[in-house]
Amino acid sequence: MPDFKDITGHERIIKSLKESIKSNKVSHAYIFSGLKGSGKKLIADAFAKVLNCQNAQNEESCGKCHSCIQFESRNNPDVFYVKATKTKSISVDDIREQVVEKVKTKPYSYNYKIFIIDKADTLTVQAQNALLKTLEEPPEYVVIMLLTQNIESFLPTVLSRCVVMKLRPINADKIKEYIMSFKGLNETDARFYSQYCGGSIGEALRLSEDEEFYAMRQDVIDCLNKLDSLDTASVMLMAKDIEKYKLYPELFDIMYMFYRDVLCYKILKDENRIIEKDKTEDIKRQAKILDEKVISRRLEAIINIKKQLKQNTPFQLSVEVLFINMKEN
Ligand SMILES: [Zn+2]
Repeated sequence: MPDFKDITGHERIIKSLKESIKSNKVSHAYIFSGLKGSGKKLIADAFAKVLNCQNAQNEESCGKCHSCIQFESRNNPDVFYVKATKTKSISVDDIREQVVEKVKTKPYSYNYKIFIIDKADTLTVQAQNALLKTLEEPPEYVVIMLLTQNIESFLPTVLSRCVVMKLRPINADKIKEYIMSFKGLNETDARFYSQYCGGSIGEALRLSEDEEFYAMRQDVIDCLNKLDSLDTASVMLMAKDIEKYKLYPELFDIMYMFYRDVLCYKILKDENRIIEKDKTEDIKRQAKILDEKVISRRLEAIINIKKQLKQNTPFQLSVEVLFINMKEN
């Protein structure tokens, strides 16, 4: 499990956590908020590990003491991972059994009793209220970390008692370098995934292992290549076929990235600036066929469809309209 020094990005948050340790001002409750795969768990784990490390230096855990060794094997008696037990939501009983009862007794072996609550956006209102009592009068040895993708799910009373740390998207170059060294990918592939992952290393890693994503991308780019040569009826059929990918949030990003590369090549005539290197021939061909204004309008149409779908416009209809509009432009 990584230490602070192994985490890519999030320097501001890590610095602030380290300073709180150094100045002996560790809070009793933190909310780490960020997208899926953004590094919330890594930060919470690294923080928990160093808080109970018996030989920490410069606010980094030693990795060798009893606490660190127990932590690495997920057996640290003073670190608790709170989970939903009966339903998908973390219930009031879960909080009572896994937090409220446990905070009553002092740590077994180390400085802090630490509770890490992942998917804290699934805490029911009752569960949050049960937790509130602990947040209002926490024993000095307690640290609670709530990890969430959606900070708006918390009651204002809970929010006001926690230090909120928002994880920002990580720079694409840093992600590229990370996945090159971690996964051994070549620069072209690593750059490609770093552009698709919305600033989340976890997402970049997931996509790089997702064969379905790769197949979908192939399929979608084939559609875009064919678009201008098909009649309206065939375009409608193509829109219907695309529907099978509707649960993939990256679907329209694929289209956007493709036309972004086409526009970029059209203007700059520089192959090195193409992100989707494996599609270079397709991109060059489209850049030759399409007018600059047409490409820009297609990019706008793709941005618009993402907005429309958020407002619950039916998927297939939206894609039909998108393709027809793109063709007419
Ligand atoms: Zn240690």
